[in-house]
Parts: sequence; structure tokens; C-alpha cells
Amino acid sequence: MSFTGPGRYREESAKMLRDKPEMRHSVTQATRTFDDHRTHAFGQVDGERWRDWARDVKTHLLSNLDIYLEQAEESLERNGAHVHWAETGADALAILEKIVEDNDVKRVVKAKSMLSEELAINAHLESLGVSVFETDLGEYIIQLLGEPPSHIVGPAIHRSLDDCRRLFHEHFGTPLDAEPDALAAAARIALRQEFLAADLGISGGNFLAADTGTVALIENEGNIRLSTSLPRIHVAFVGIEKLVPTLGDVAGFVQLTTRSATGQPIGNYVSLIQGPRREDEPDGPEEVHVVLVDNGRTNLLADDTAWEALRCVRCGACLNICPVYRQTGGHAYGWPYSGPIGAIIAPGLLGLEKAMPLPHASSLCGACVDVCPVRIPIPEILVHWRERAVEEGLVPLAETVGLKAYTAAAERPVVFGAAGAALRYAPLELGGRALPILSGWMQERSAPKPSPKSFMQLWKEGLE
Ligand code: SF4
Repeated sequence: MSFTGPGRYREESAKMLRDKPEMRHSVTQATRTFDDHRTHAFGQVDGERWRDWARDVKTHLLSNLDIYLEQAEESLERNGAHVHWAETGADALAILEKIVEDNDVKRVVKAKSMLSEELAINAHLESLGVSVFETDLGEYIIQLLGEPPSHIVGPAIHRSLDDCRRLFHEHFGTPLDAEPDALAAAARIALRQEFLAADLGISGGNFLAADTGTVALIENEGNIRLSTSLPRIHVAFVGIEKLVPTLGDVAGFVQLTTRSATGQPIGNYVSLIQGPRREDEPDGPEEVHVVLVDNGRTNLLADDTAWEALRCVRCGACLNICPVYRQTGGHAYGWPYSGPIGAIIAPGLLGLEKAMPLPHASSLCGACVDVCPVRIPIPEILVHWRERAVEEGLVPLAETVGLKAYTAAAERPVVFGAAGAALRYAPLELGGRALPILSGWMQERSAPKPSPKSFMQLWKEGLE
């Protein structure tokens, strides 16, 4: 199973709602737990001030991105890392392919990285005959299942413990009632061999400090540390928006990100990669490559409204609170970034036409704004993309005509009242099926029963 593309969002979300109640249950339960932990963690600190600080640092960084990118390149090279620039996803894959060929790489271990999902690195490596092993437990589970991730922090949250028990029983012979610790131990034993045999390790980068050239990586399992230090070569793919001005900023962002993601004050492990192994160091890679990836990010930056989405630290808090994501899970969105953040960056990274209808996959309730640690105005950006979609003729004609008719009626009280009265008696279903004009809306809903009295009548009665 692979991503189906945003264009199938309506069909895929309907499938989830109709056919997969147990997955919906797993997603809802996991996201509620994440959000409860986040709420508790923020209750212990001055979260509002911290979020203001994070918004301001990222805004400053994005307003001076060219300067900080040059500084980061100099710092990385001073540390002995090779710096590569990838304007597109294809450029990033070509850079990796060259490193693989130059070093006769046959086995790769990979740390969890959403950018690597965006670039479809695994499929590319496999097409070159290279074996790739995911090392994050959640990613390892979905790799064994042959599925893409469904959440940017918890890739396997749509799967239950029993699903994992069955999977591990098939692959490793663990008992069908094995405890989570025993499952993790089985994965650890299998992966340990791969860490030792790998020629190359791949990671993303949560943050890159421009002043010191430090790539910061947050995790809970220790697998990133092994992926980036045991193989001879380490390649880090870092989106250009992941920069922060100083290493001091990294300290603030690492803690803010984990509090927002899982409610932890800090990740169990924070790796600060500072170039290849020095002569006096006992371990670490001989070569470090940092690939700075654009792949549509400068398009997003050029947009007067949507640029703020580039402040994102990929904590997943907006997914966890989103009433839409909680029902559909991540696969329905059809590409690696799901939930509110996926809906606002897709038009920038993929192009608006390809991203449709994701900007509509929201009730605009605004819960995401309340939890976003970098204060991204998500509903505003969603509305902005919806407006652009109307301007570019990307919404169905019936919707445009229907909304124009509604506007015309709403601006004329007499017409509006007459239309309302007519609707109170008009059938919304015929023979148990929705009228064609309402078929999308009523795909997963029953027909609403109109009130016998208009709002104006009820209002007047209330005043009497
Ligand atoms: S948009 Fe905000 S809440 Fe959502 S993943 Fe990004 S930083 Fe986290």
C-alpha cells in the first residue's frame, strides 16, 4: 500500500469512516492521549510566552533565510560535513544515488524522517537494489505491514496492540499475547544486526543551528543515535525551513517540540551532530553529508499568507486535536503530511491543483491554532487556499454556482425568507437517496430535518 495522492481524499476518508471502525478507534484513542499529555505538560510552564518566543524566532529566521542558509553552509563545512543543495525532490534523490554508487552501499538503516517520506527515499533506494531498514519502532511496524505512516509523530497509531502482536508473531514468532516490552525486544534484536551491517545511515533533522552547523535530532528509542553513528556514512536530509539562528535556540525548540508532541519535557535522546568522527573520537561516521532540501518550500515562502506554515516544527499537536483527523486518520490525506499542517503545506509543496481538496478537509473550528507551538494561523491559511482555489476554477462548478445563489439570496431578506420557507417543505431525499446537489454532503450523514419555524419566527416569539 502506498499514498494515493490528495485527490482521493473524499473517497479514502469515506472508506475509513465506513469500513475501518477499529482503526478510527485506535487513532482517536492515541490522539486523545497525546493531547492530554500535551495539555498537562503546558500546564507546568508559561506556554504562552514560550510560544510567542518560538513564533518570533522562526519568523525572524524565515525573513532572513538566505543569510542563515549561507551561514549554516559555512558552519557545516567548517565541521567537516559535505553540504549539498537540492532544489527539487529529484535533485535530493540524485545526490543520495551518487553517494550510494560512490561508496558501493548495499544496506541502509534509516531513522524516522518525514522529509524522507516526502522524497520517497525507500522506494528509490530499493530501485537501486539497496536494502533499507526503518529503525524507529513505529516505522518498522508499518514497513513490515507495507503501509505508509499515518501520523507525523506516531506513524503506526492507526494500528492496535493486537495488530502488532499478530504481525510480530508472523515475523518473529513472539506469542500472540506478548506484552509491548517483548515486542520491542524482538524488534531490537532484529534491528541490531542491521545497524551493525549497514554501510550508510539516513536521518532527517529536527533543527539545524546556523551558527554552529549542528543538526539536532530528537527521539525516544536510541535508534537515531545508532543510525547516525554506527554506519560509515551518515546522510541527513534537512528541509531549508528547519534552520534556527543559534544552538541556544535549539535548546528552546527541542523542549517545546516534545512538550507539544508527546507531553515530554524533553526527548529521551537528543543527538547533536557536529560533523564526522574526529581523530580522537572512538565512534561516529567517517563521512557526514547534509542535504538541504527546498522541494517547494521557497514557493511557500513567497506566498504572502501561507509562508507562516514554514514555522512548523512537525510536532503533530494540530493532528491530535483536529476533529477531522481524529475520524479519518492520516492515510486519507494521500501524502505524508496529514491533518491541518498537511492541508496547509500541500498547496505550496505540491501545487494547489494537486493538493485539492485538502484545504477543505477542515471544519475551521480553530482548535489547531490553540495548540500550535509556533502560532501558525492554520484556519486563515486554509481559507486563503480555498479562495485561491475558487479564483483558479479548482472547485466544482455546482459548488460555485450554489454559493453564488446563496450569497444572492442572503443579501435579500425577502428572497432568503421565501427560500427558507420553500426548503422547509422540500424533500432532501428521494427514495432514500440524497438529491444530487446534496449527495456529497450527505455521503456520511443522514438528511437534516428542517425546523418547522424559521429562525426569525423563533426569534420574534422569544422576544414576545
Ligand atoms: S502546524 Fe503547529 S501544531 Fe501542527 S505540526 Fe506544525 S508546529 Fe505542530
